[in-house]
Amino acid sequence: MLVRLMYASRPAPALDAEELAAILRESRAANPQHGITGVLCVGDGVFVQVLEGSRSAVNRLYQLIAADARHKQLELLSYEEITERRYAAWAMGQMDIARLNPALLLKYSLTAHLDPFSVSGAATAALLDELTATASIVRSP
Ligand code: FAD
Repeated sequence: MLVRLMYASRPAPALDAEELAAILRESRAANPQHGITGVLCVGDGVFVQVLEGSRSAVNRLYQLIAADARHKQLELLSYEEITERRYAAWAMGQMDIARLNPALLLKYSLTAHLDPFSVSGAATAALLDELTATASIVRSP
């Protein structure tokens, strides 16, 4: 059975671009072996990550991620059973919020900043859907 999980967190204060690149490198190396796909949105002092895959693999990975000191304040935004993946082509895609049109953020948020902690999981999912549709995933799979 396939599931999709989305959570938000805040990067640890010391996390720099090199460490972020390392997280993405590790993710892209490990995820294919576990059938995990998804996307990591970065910016505005926030991470939003979507994980897709078998229920057991997604649950196991979420527990590893939740214990990772490179971020904090994890908040589960949504968890659902799905019939098809949205990010099938991405071992872990990356979206850079700093590059986005503020109008797109305003469409789904209270301000032109990504704040998944104050809007519904559905609003954040709709924003990510629109970003995916407009090819805003900025790094290769
Ligand atoms: P290991 O010792 O490598 O594995 C422990 C157990 O978990 C083993 O049973 C192994 O089979 C299983 N496991 C390992 N990797 C996965 C996986 N990808 N899916 C399912 N089961 C697995 N790490 C990722 O692998 N993928 C990500 O998408 C990812 N995203 C991250 C996002 C953020 C914001 C942060 C901060 C970290 C992310 N990480 C991701 C890193 C993650 O937190 C762990 O550091 C990483 O999974 C390795 O942990 P480990 O060495 O303890 O696990």
